[in-house]
Amino acid sequence: MSLDLTFLGTGSAYPSPHRGASALVLRSEGECWLFDCGEGTQTQLMRSPLKASRITKIFISHLHGDHLFGLPGLLCTVSLNSSPTQPPSCVDIYGPQGLRRFLRVSLELSASQLLFPFAVHELEPTADQCPPEGLLNPLVTQSSEWLHPQERPGTTIQMDTQSDLYVLFEEKQFTVKAFRLYHRIPSFGFCVQEQERPGRLNAQLLNELGLKPGPQYGLLKAGQAVTLANGRIVRPCDVLDPPVPGRKVCIFGDCASLVGEGGIKACQGADVLVHEATLADEHRERALEHGHSTPSTAAGVALACKTHRLVLYHFSQRYKPLGLQKEGDEDDVLELKRQAEDALRGTDIEVIVSEDFLTLPIPIKKLQ
Ligand SMILES: [Zn+2]
Ligand SMILES: [Zn+2]
Repeated sequence: MSLDLTFLGTGSAYPSPHRGASALVLRSEGECWLFDCGEGTQTQLMRSPLKASRITKIFISHLHGDHLFGLPGLLCTVSLNSSPTQPPSCVDIYGPQGLRRFLRVSLELSASQLLFPFAVHELEPTADQCPPEGLLNPLVTQSSEWLHPQERPGTTIQMDTQSDLYVLFEEKQFTVKAFRLYHRIPSFGFCVQEQERPGRLNAQLLNELGLKPGPQYGLLKAGQAVTLANGRIVRPCDVLDPPVPGRKVCIFGDCASLVGEGGIKACQGADVLVHEATLADEHRERALEHGHSTPSTAAGVALACKTHRLVLYHFSQRYKPLGLQKEGDEDDVLELKRQAEDALRGTDIEVIVSEDFLTLPIPIKKLQ
């Protein structure tokens, strides 16, 4: 099954002509999951090979505008372009408390009707995810009993105190969990774990046992034992290669650090870890003051998680994309890459600097 990650916006604070505001898409078998939706995400989508109508789930890391302001508009455009006979099934939207009210009020006040249903599932943050002034007044976040006409009731997801994680859902293909981050307002990261798949049938072993291709192959592959004509019982573990481990993609929202152990535990061995690096290491104090990270911070997280690839994104708009830099420009995005690489020297963690429209394939893991 193909799996890839496309960056639609890699800039922080606001969209500019050279870097969109935060948004990226994880695509598997044509289905698209959108992570963050800064202003202008819909035009970035139109400029990419991805189809907005394929978006089935949306994850919002935190409620800052550069991650959120594009959401009502995107939903309206998906609705406008969807076929009235085949509208998208329910779009599930996950994000911090307050997201439901934001979306409901935006759609209602603009008299926006959608051709498809949606549900907002809210994560309940903890008080230690931001300075006291970053916590929203419950009067602002609470939503009434009243629903937008296309809205389906959503859930409130609390942290599981044992694992320090929020379990968003577990499906046939993927399990998605969220973990806490420290920012100026409560922020979350998301861990997408593909389920392990059974190994392939070992043709040589099957042959030795005298098993011919047929329905018994299907039963073994489905995890059931079969009985041979001679009475011998063959169990799946006798003839299946080791299971293929699932891939893991972790996407961090804005943060200066992690809160609790959940993030490091959930992201262990990630194939790809996407982490913000808003400013270079020499601006670390300013980054911290604004609840952000530098390349060394991101590298430290990648190291603690033993990730394979670290992708940096959410760059201050002062860092122009490669190819757009002019002579004499002081701020060089490659310097951010070098700083992360320096911090990871001696490891085999690959550092990638994202650009708008970069697509990163995530290959299937090799058999163990
Ligand atoms: Zn941001
Ligand atoms: Zn932010």
